[in-house]
Amino acid sequence: MGTRSIPPNFRQIMRHDTVFKERVHDAYKIKEKLPEPTVCPQCNAVFHSGRWQWTAAPANAHQHNCPACQRIIDHYPAGFLTLEGEFFHSHRDEILHLVQNFEKKEKSEHSLQRIIATEKQNGSFLITTTDIHLARGIGEAIHDAYQGDLDFHYNQDENLLRVHWSR
Ligand SMILES: [Zn+2]
Repeated sequence: MGTRSIPPNFRQIMRHDTVFKERVHDAYKIKEKLPEPTVCPQCNAVFHSGRWQWTAAPANAHQHNCPACQRIIDHYPAGFLTLEGEFFHSHRDEILHLVQNFEKKEKSEHSLQRIIATEKQNGSFLITTTDIHLARGIGEAIHDAYQGDLDFHYNQDENLLRVHWSR
């Protein structure tokens, strides 16, 4: 299977598509309203004032996996970023370093935006993320730094984003 094959329920979207502005509320697998405060036993993020954040949890906090950890446990990424091309391979360490720094910064501000895995595939790298905005943000950061070709394909039904960058 080539890396350019796009699954049928994905459509191509543009860099300034409204999907990116709306910040679709993606309370992954958490249907009930969580009591506050709730702490995630996996990563210690705390649900407080209606959102998950990095803060200290009181001793009596409820426990519930946060959506990011739940996606990691379920092996169900929201974002898929494929990197490939000759330029990518000759600058791979540098580009992957940029990716890590970008994630570190985003994650410090938005606790649910995390990289799940970076996997080497035949001829390309696949980076999976817990949130579509992180996959988009990494793709744009690479494009801003190195130009190349950047595409987005979005699956509206499941709020999944595929990002492809090549140079
Ligand atoms: Zn968590």
